[in-house]
Amino acid sequence: MHPNVWHPFTSIKSSLDPVKVTSGDGIMLTIEDGREVIDCISSWWVNIHGHSHPEISKAISDQAQKLEHVIFSNFTHQPAEDVAEVLADLLPGDLNRVFFSDNGSTAVEVALKVAIQYWQNRGEKRQKFIAFEGAYHGDTFGAMSAGSRTIFSDVFSNHLFDVDFVDYPSTWEGDKSVGDKEDAVIEKIEQLLTDSPDQYAGIILEPLIQGAGGMNMCREEFLQKLHWVNRQYDTLLIFDEVMTGFGRTGEFFACKKAQVQPDIICLAKGLTGGFLPLSVTVCSDRIYETFNSDDPLKTFWHGHSYTANPLGCAAAVASLKILKNSEKRIQSLESVHRDKMSRFEKYNDVKNIRFKGTIVAFDLETDQADGYLNPVSNTIKKHCVDYGLLIRPLGNTIYLMLPYCATDEELETVYSQLEKLLLDKLSIS
Ligand SMILES: *Cc1c(COP(=O)(O)O)cnc(C)c1O
Repeated sequence: MHPNVWHPFTSIKSSLDPVKVTSGDGIMLTIEDGREVIDCISSWWVNIHGHSHPEISKAISDQAQKLEHVIFSNFTHQPAEDVAEVLADLLPGDLNRVFFSDNGSTAVEVALKVAIQYWQNRGEKRQKFIAFEGAYHGDTFGAMSAGSRTIFSDVFSNHLFDVDFVDYPSTWEGDKSVGDKEDAVIEKIEQLLTDSPDQYAGIILEPLIQGAGGMNMCREEFLQKLHWVNRQYDTLLIFDEVMTGFGRTGEFFACKKAQVQPDIICLAKGLTGGFLPLSVTVCSDRIYETFNSDDPLKTFWHGHSYTANPLGCAAAVASLKILKNSEKRIQSLESVHRDKMSRFEKYNDVKNIRFKGTIVAFDLETDQADGYLNPVSNTIKKHCVDYGLLIRPLGNTIYLMLPYCATDEELETVYSQLEKLLLDKLSIS
């Protein structure tokens, strides 16, 4: 490890030396020693079109020669207006008021602050949120507060605001109890909302897939039930689509797949195709309108130095264009994964196989406790490069989340190399 670099989510003492990457092209990354690996996780879920995409790099380069940045209060620029327009067009209903920030965590912070102030602007004091066990919304304090309490947030627990947590109705292939699980969660939420009717600012969740919490997947039907409850009790529904956005679930957005319109949606990771940090929090008209006032107390006093950076916006416009052209492939990827994953069905140690669009996940049976600290993760991280793969399990949960440009043959290579790795190093049977 370089003596001056401190890596994220990395134990300084016990982790392996980082792999030094020199270049990327499509799904491939080239390592300093000349070896190549397939990026099976789109580099923390951002590189939806693969690495070094020529159209996105050209868009950034063209923009950099015109205008690299400008203040976004009282000034604006074409790339920001273009991204906002394309997003408003792609998102369902009247989700069309686009607030820019820099990353997924800030997109969530903005959503939480907007939700609280929305009620305040209407003369109501609603400050509480309902969130989900297993949720991950980012690493800033508000985002951590809305996330499930884990070892990541343990040290800071005294500083996190209270949130009411309910279970996430996770499901997988062959799960028969899913309907009951969903009903129990909905019942719990209805109870919370009935017990304190004017206290909840909103309900926040990762729709269809909880990412960092272990690639837990729920059904579209659950989101529909949740939406119904949300309407009955008039609270705000916030979808954190930082990971599920931009095609991951097989449709452009999880909310589109479930045919549910949230009041606020957070988008980041795939927004610029993995080129630059940029995020948005998009609100419906009824929220925006409560901020449309001469009263300074009703203004949303929030922003960042790099808000709506033109380079990021240019990258986003280019990435969204590629996304639209990839729609058919994105929709077809689930069946490719289902086909290739069938080779794992014979192993008893492989359980809870689950698919959602472009993502596949499963858990490995081990003699250690399930969860993020399960040592399976380190064994795989240690050996995956030797098998030509970049994989980063969440404890004993293994998942694949490749760039959409991966061909069927490349996916075949990924599955056969993964099978070899699991047989050789973890002796699955
Ligand atoms: C990654 C992630 C975040 C945080 O985004 P950052 O850009 O890492 O701050 C928030 N929510 C979800 C669902 C995520 O997957």
